[in-house]
Amino acid sequence: ALTIGIVGLPNVGKSTLFNALTKNNVLAANYPFATIEPNVGVVPLPDPRLKVLAEIFSSEKILPATVSFVDIAGIVRGASEGEGLGNKFLANIREADAICQVVRAFEDGDVVHVDGKVSPASDIETIHTELILADLQTLEKAVPRLEKEARVNKEKKPALDLALAAQKVLEEGHTLYAAGPAAGVDLGEAKQLGLLTTKPFIYVFNLDEEQLADAELQASLRELAAPADAVFLNAKLEMDLMEMEPDEALELLQSFGAEESGLDQLARTGFHTLGLQTYLTAGPKESRAWTIGKGWTAPMAAGVIHTDFQRGFIKAEVVSFEDLVAAGNMNAAKAAGKVRIEGKDYVMADGDVVEFRFNV
Ligand code: GDP
Repeated sequence: ALTIGIVGLPNVGKSTLFNALTKNNVLAANYPFATIEPNVGVVPLPDPRLKVLAEIFSSEKILPATVSFVDIAGIVRGASEGEGLGNKFLANIREADAICQVVRAFEDGDVVHVDGKVSPASDIETIHTELILADLQTLEKAVPRLEKEARVNKEKKPALDLALAAQKVLEEGHTLYAAGPAAGVDLGEAKQLGLLTTKPFIYVFNLDEEQLADAELQASLRELAAPADAVFLNAKLEMDLMEMEPDEALELLQSFGAEESGLDQLARTGFHTLGLQTYLTAGPKESRAWTIGKGWTAPMAAGVIHTDFQRGFIKAEVVSFEDLVAAGNMNAAKAAGKVRIEGKDYVMADGDVVEFRFNV
């Protein structure tokens, strides 16, 4: 599964957030045979559609899609030089599919800031710099090799050009994710070179309670994060919310003017950032969301349930969630002609409710 690595400077609230993320590791509850590494938090993707489906189909269980977060041990200045924790840190980043930086905005005299003052902009800069330096080191080795190859084989010229364009972006102090595409750097190809800053970023701003209600502050932080997505939360509050009954938690959130928890927002943002979408299955046993990539065909989607479903794929019966709900139930949707029979070239849409037919 795709994972999002959580990074940040010391004392910004990473552990607090991560504890909240792992508080009810959903895998433990719903997927009995899965094992979870201690540094992985598996979070449900909030999806109100599942409750509606479960009512229509009288499902016993609801199984949401999940998003996995990995706690990546402390970044320090100099990580890119491979000192101490540095190498392990970079190896962990390499494995993550997206990078989520926790940034401290909360003021608290009792919690020391490593740089002596709270500055979201310079915290972001610090981590960028380490990752950019790591990428420049990678290119320092790759460019001479690509130059040599391009001299004997013209077909290698585009790879060299890509590396040089990436180098320029990085030397100007930008991540490839933020500035690569505009400079003509294809992120997919740059990723093949092992460049870390091609990965999508998400920023989690850890706010105190007053800042949670400060729209102006949040707008300026959002600008700081752009083009990456920003999530605003209070890590301590998220911990408390995890310990409450859902009704109680919602009431507390509403008292802060919020409709959903920061963790829910983070799960949704993370899922979106990874380029994922879901389709749905429903029956008396369970209503369930399955994770697929954008543009996946019906057989690929079937393969997520079981490889046999993909191999023996015949067809899919598909109805959009909205059409199903409007009809009231599956038979009514069929009678209304809303249930389509789709073949192996069908490209899945988010929220398709599907039943696959397959040979075993
Ligand atoms: P880490 O080093 O980034 O993992 O940070 P921790 O999660 O260990 O938090 C460092 C300290 O900041 C702890 O004493 C936390 O209780 C405190 N802390 C974390 N989040 C918040 C917050 O939102 N507000 C305040 N005031 N303190 C926080």
